[in-house]
Amino acid sequence: FHGEAPGLLRPFDASMAERSIERLRMASRIRQAIEQNEFMLHFQPVVETATGRVEKLEALLRWPSSDGTCISPEDFIPLSEETGLIIDIGRWVFEEAARTHVALTRAGHGDLSIAVNVSAVQFQRTDVAAVVGDAIERFELRPGALAIELTESSLMANRRSATAAMRRLSAQGTHVSLDDFGTGFSSMAYLRDLPIDALKIDRVFVSDVYANERSASICRAIITLAHTLGMAVVAEGVENAAQLDWLAATGCDFVQGYQLARPMDFDRLLTFLRPGEAA
Ligand code: C2E
Ligand code: CA
Ligand code: CA
Ligand code: CA
Repeated sequence: FHGEAPGLLRPFDASMAERSIERLRMASRIRQAIEQNEFMLHFQPVVETATGRVEKLEALLRWPSSDGTCISPEDFIPLSEETGLIIDIGRWVFEEAARTHVALTRAGHGDLSIAVNVSAVQFQRTDVAAVVGDAIERFELRPGALAIELTESSLMANRRSATAAMRRLSAQGTHVSLDDFGTGFSSMAYLRDLPIDALKIDRVFVSDVYANERSASICRAIITLAHTLGMAVVAEGVENAAQLDWLAATGCDFVQGYQLARPMDFDRLLTFLRPGEAA
């Protein structure tokens, strides 16, 4: 294509090339981060609305960069999914969550479970029940010590294998929460057929629930739906007292968000769980 309008093609090609080089560079940085153990987990408490008791912890992936800030999982998980690197990251997350549970138990908090986010690609390409079961066995944890959070997209691609995987998780006592509920392609059929323990109401509905009658109606409907099906409900992204009061009055079982506690590293988590020892 030598003689063809190079002036028109060149800028386009250059930006395409730049973008793919940037992606390659990022993918190799992620690979290196896995090998050199650069990732960390932070933990955010999920709190029982009526009592304030911490029920479980959500593990959230952190990638500290040299300037002291963290690269957001939203910035590297999509590329990790496209390149398959999410499989190795996911294994590391389960292993680190299991290690943390051992430490939690030693500190007297073995009753708390740790919920791990599992991406759709990871759910479809690995036997997640086996990965969890393996971690439980190797670290000698109680069966329910680890839980998972899935989005609706995990259940869509291959109905039959998703159903089988969900049944295996349920049989081994691994709780499953459906994340970001209400924002994906919800299907009532999988709510009917699959062993799901809890629905997590996405924070877009929680944010203005006390002020927007339409958000309130959606939250009320999700709470009723979950309870009717014997599932628990968690509201995520609870940032203020007005949201919390509304959720408590409406019977939302669990709440999670900055109003209750931010995600924190393990040391700060221990302090949070034992406020008496903080000073
Ligand atoms: P998510 O599972 O929906 O996690 C909740 C996100 O909301 C977290 O962002 C959390 O830090 C943030 N958050 C918690 N409370 C509040 C609040 O009150 N207000 C607001 N505005 N945000 C709040 P984070 O940690 O940046 O994670 C973003 C997403 O990255 C997660 O969304 C999840 O989809 C994904 N992710 C995180 N860790 C992992 C992981 O280990 N594996 C996989 N596959 N995905 C992960
Ligand atoms: Ca989650
Ligand atoms: Ca969520
Ligand atoms: Ca999300």
